[in-house]
Formats: sequence, structure tokens, C-alpha cells
Amino acid sequence: MAIRKIVKVGDPILRKTSRPVEEITPRITHLVEDMIETMRDANGCGLAAVQVGVLRRVVVIEVEDGKPIVLINPKIVAFAGEQCEQEGCLSLPGKWGTTRRPKHVTVRALDLDGKEVEYTGSDLLARAFCHELDHLDGKLFTDALVGELEG
Ligand code: ZN
Repeated sequence: MAIRKIVKVGDPILRKTSRPVEEITPRITHLVEDMIETMRDANGCGLAAVQVGVLRRVVVIEVEDGKPIVLINPKIVAFAGEQCEQEGCLSLPGKWGTTRRPKHVTVRALDLDGKEVEYTGSDLLARAFCHELDHLDGKLFTDALVGELEG
């Protein structure tokens, strides 16, 4: 495993749409391992592949230590409620702002075995799902701000 360099805001790749993963190759498995290590090294709770410069629909999230969630080709299949909480991004170090997000979010994706998985999260996990999936479509949390960007 290796720590990869995190792409920062200003790099145009962050505004690009990521492509679906067609086959879970050793290269994808390696990417996921590196993403988990990179996310942990940066003390983040989520990372999208585009943030390490790879335009693939791959996300890792870890809001509960030691329990990383791997999402390949994820889609939001249900959401409910609303929350306005502070959010930040490893691609915008030292910045944060309040966003409006659903309070509960269900995502469907493939895991590293190519098996369909579904997760439902509330609060922080729901925000993480929205934030990381937005990255796959070239969107940043600054697009969902309800106030000023701080920091
Ligand atoms: Zn982010």
C-alpha cells in the first residue's frame, strides 16, 4: 500500500465526471487499498478516487474507526430529511462551511468482490455519502454551501 498525493482545489480534474468501473481488477483493488491508507494518513473520513487523480467511480468512507466502507459505482437510491452541518474536504485543507444535505441516505454499490451492497447512513455518514458521491460528478461541497466558506 502507498499514500497517494491528494489533488487540491484549482486542479481541473476535480470538476470532471468519473467513469464507472467495468471490472474489478487488481489495479482497482490496489487503488482502494491506497485510498484507505491516504484517507487515514490525512485524518479524513472519506475520499473519492478523483482526489488521487483517478477518474473512476470509487469511494472510500470511514466514519467509524477500523470499518472502512468501499463503494464502487455507488448510487443514492433513497434519501430523507434534511441537515445543515459543517463540512470540509481533503482537497480544500483548512476550509469548511455549512451545507444542506439529506439527514438519511441509502446508497447501493459494488464491493471489492463485485457483490452488490447497500448502506443506509444518517447524520455524518449521510453527509459523507453525499459529499463523496458528488466528487464522482465533479461537484465540491462548496457547491452545496448555505453560508460562507470559512477558514
Ligand atoms: Zn471532498
